[in-house]
Amino acid sequence: MSKIVSVNPFTEEIIGEVEETPLEQIPAMVKKAREVLLAWNKVGLEKRSDIIEKLVPLLEQNKEKLAKIIHDEMGKPIQKAVGEVEAAISATNFFLKNTPIALKEKVLDENEKEKNVLCYEPIGVVAAITPWNYPLELPLVSIVPALLAGNTVLFKPSEHSSLIGIEFFNLLKQLEKEDLPENVIQLIIGGKETGKELVKQDIDLVSFTGSLRAGKQIMKDSAEKLHKIILELGGKDPAIVLKDADLEKTAKGIVRGATINTGQVCCSIERIYIQKEIFEQLTKKIVEKANAVTIDKSDDKADIGPLIREFQLKTVEDHIEDAKKKGAHILTGGKKLAGKGYFFPPTVLTNLTDDMKVMKEETFGPVIPLVSFETIEEAIEKANNTKYGLTASIWTKDIEKAKQIAKKLVVGTVVINGSGGYKIGCPWGGAKQSGLGRINYLDGIKELTNIKNLTIRNMR
Ligand code: NAD
Repeated sequence: MSKIVSVNPFTEEIIGEVEETPLEQIPAMVKKAREVLLAWNKVGLEKRSDIIEKLVPLLEQNKEKLAKIIHDEMGKPIQKAVGEVEAAISATNFFLKNTPIALKEKVLDENEKEKNVLCYEPIGVVAAITPWNYPLELPLVSIVPALLAGNTVLFKPSEHSSLIGIEFFNLLKQLEKEDLPENVIQLIIGGKETGKELVKQDIDLVSFTGSLRAGKQIMKDSAEKLHKIILELGGKDPAIVLKDADLEKTAKGIVRGATINTGQVCCSIERIYIQKEIFEQLTKKIVEKANAVTIDKSDDKADIGPLIREFQLKTVEDHIEDAKKKGAHILTGGKKLAGKGYFFPPTVLTNLTDDMKVMKEETFGPVIPLVSFETIEEAIEKANNTKYGLTASIWTKDIEKAKQIAKKLVVGTVVINGSGGYKIGCPWGGAKQSGLGRINYLDGIKELTNIKNLTIRNMR
């Protein structure tokens, strides 16, 4: 049986080996998920909520253990890993409170002849395929609302975060003591080929978070059986800084937005367009702030940890090398830190051109490319000049002007004077090639259902 090896990115040491789910077992697992579907649906939302509510104390009691595995396997400083577990708990509470609101039946119209009722029913068997960068929170926001909505779930965590995936699955399995029927949630361990095999099965929905490359493949593979797909993919998110922005706050916000989670966030700031009049001053401040970012070699409270693995380090190095060759200037950083661990410092680049990888491909590292612009129209055009469309940020004191710019940016989320914008209480998803569909908020819950119109006519 093949094994998946888990490596600690701080030390490069192997910290675990787990057996992959044999591909030939997957069809039988899907069959079991389908067999239990009706029983789980019949349980009803109220009782399903009672069962899933018990996950909250389990997450609370295991907070430190979960955070330690996230730290060791993925590389987040402990305090940030604790923050991820807390975000997962808040998300569970959000879904518990809001699923009944999202899925409440609604009378659309009623007259003496007929009544039309909007109903949200389970979509069926869901494949939840998830990435490694938020290895607890992202699986949870995919799985918990799917279960509440009455679906059964096959969960495949990333091959780079199998240990945390297994730990989370074991907590979900404990809900079987609280009447969660067996096989409502099942775990599949493996990499890309395993994910591909799962997508080919007789499932109803693929709830996927990951790269554009994999998203496109999933779309092709889903075409055969016309599965519904939710794709939460990558980004090359722009920041537009207008000349009236507060330099100190903007520099701090940009560096945070570009380096948080060591830049390994789908909504990281990956391109920064600065109005010409403040380019030099702001660049200086950004370099200052980048140099002040603390890196976790043993400090649990540091700002950032290492990159997850060597493959991620290689991507970052490749983008910087390509930019250097094409004439970019490196103002700070640019090289892996000496010694063990995939540590890479915040790196500020200028003198950039649109043909550089760092300006068009997702880097997923703590890289801060700075470009100047003259007019707002030019900045909007540059910001939109990408196949991606996840988020964008605008930095200015003039909120009305920012709102006008926001309307012209083709993305799923715009943040004014901040970045990211991921919030469980707001719908999340991308425009263009950053994805399809939405997760979170009420829209995300509805995506996990079959929307049915019930027409009731009076007998004559
Ligand atoms: P990835 O696409 O390599 O892998 C994600 C998951 O998909 C893993 O479980 C992997 O095994 C599986 N997989 C890979 N190819 C597959 C295929 N053809 N069929 C089925 N499954 C397949 O991505 P990653 O490196 O784990 O994660 C980083 C990417 O995820 C980045 O692009 C990042 O922007 C994106 N991401 C997006 C969001 C969002 O909300 N939009 C959030 C987090 C990460």
